[in-house]
Amino acid sequence: MPLLVMKFGGTSVADLDRIANAAKKVQREVERGYDVIVIVSAMAGRTNELVGWVEGTSRLYDAREYDAVVASGENVTAGLMALRLQEMGIPARSWQGWQVPINTTDQHGSARFVSIPRHNIDQKFAEGMRVAVVAGFQGIAPDGRITTLGRGGSDTTAVAFAAAFGAERCDTYTDVDGVYTTDPRISAKARKLDRIAFEEMLELASLGAKVLQTRSVELAMRFKVPLRVLSSFDETDETSGTLVCDEDQIMEAKVVTGIAYSRDEAKITLITVEDRPGISAAIFEPLAAAGVNVDMIVQNISEKNYEDHPGAVTDMTFSVPVSQVEHARRAMEAARAEGKIAYDELSVDTEVAKVSVVGIGMRSHAGVAARMFRALADENINIKVISTSEIKISVLIDRKYMELAVQALHDAFELEKA
Ligand code: ASP
Ligand code: MG
Repeated sequence: MPLLVMKFGGTSVADLDRIANAAKKVQREVERGYDVIVIVSAMAGRTNELVGWVEGTSRLYDAREYDAVVASGENVTAGLMALRLQEMGIPARSWQGWQVPINTTDQHGSARFVSIPRHNIDQKFAEGMRVAVVAGFQGIAPDGRITTLGRGGSDTTAVAFAAAFGAERCDTYTDVDGVYTTDPRISAKARKLDRIAFEEMLELASLGAKVLQTRSVELAMRFKVPLRVLSSFDETDETSGTLVCDEDQIMEAKVVTGIAYSRDEAKITLITVEDRPGISAAIFEPLAAAGVNVDMIVQNISEKNYEDHPGAVTDMTFSVPVSQVEHARRAMEAARAEGKIAYDELSVDTEVAKVSVVGIGMRSHAGVAARMFRALADENINIKVISTSEIKISVLIDRKYMELAVQALHDAFELEKA
């Protein structure tokens, strides 16, 4: 029988009514002839509550017991979903991670998959079970202890099962009806996408479009699992939502698919650093050691080159999340005190945001950057830092213009049009 993975997030299983509603969506697929593996999250808010209980009990908690407590939210919804399906006359059974077993590493709180052997679940399907309801977010370490995958991990569980069982598709039911060209709260013209390529979704997800855990998209891309995002609150059919898929399955990619933003950025400039071989390593090694997540980097090119003019100087600018500014500052001051780098001044701007245009079509179309910069210029928005990749152009601008920039770019690339 063809197999489908259906994943229901926390808001989709937040109470018994919603579990019943989700079960109806499962029933429809069973009636259409699919065997189904359902992956459930904990009820909305439950994982936070469990984490709070752990922290309230032990400040420096044992990570194994954290996982034992925090994984329990999914056990409840898995059992309830199986019961609901049984009430509807559908042969269903719940599975906790260790029962499958979902073998993971022993990195408690952020475990990674090692293997998902199929035989136990396959045997039950062969005996007539139609739905396996699997607790998301959890697994079992080599020593037999319960593990969890990191917050939002049940998306990744769902994709891993789809890959392991050769599912036709992985449908992810959530509280939004798909992936949009940009955040609809910022642009009223945001349009739901029918399809988006894995690479594009990865860029959007890592830039803060929170629909899917980034790891789940990476996994889907690696195993070419078509991943659909759709709403559990709407009537849905085979065409609902957004399909995240291989770019081959997208007929005519637009040059730009979406506009992403990241609000809480900061720009740090080291003024007058020596322009010599090794200076970048000397700056970014201490930042890396301090765990600072550097994103964009710009080094001004000095007019004088080093060989001809020893003693030439330059400025080095980079962006970090606002929350890491102090870590970065301390790392730089320490490196200066140790004589590893020299600079005149460290200037920080915490009022910046990053806006990016993303699209696989950029690979084969010139002129995207020019169009982007023109649109920002027409709004009088000053660009502070630029960075590009094969399918993305990002700019750092004053945060107060972020919404305006997103709207202007959405218009400039006519993303409201299909
Ligand atoms: N319940 C877990 C969390 O909130 C996993 C998930 O829902 O994806 O992080
Ligand atoms: Mg989630």
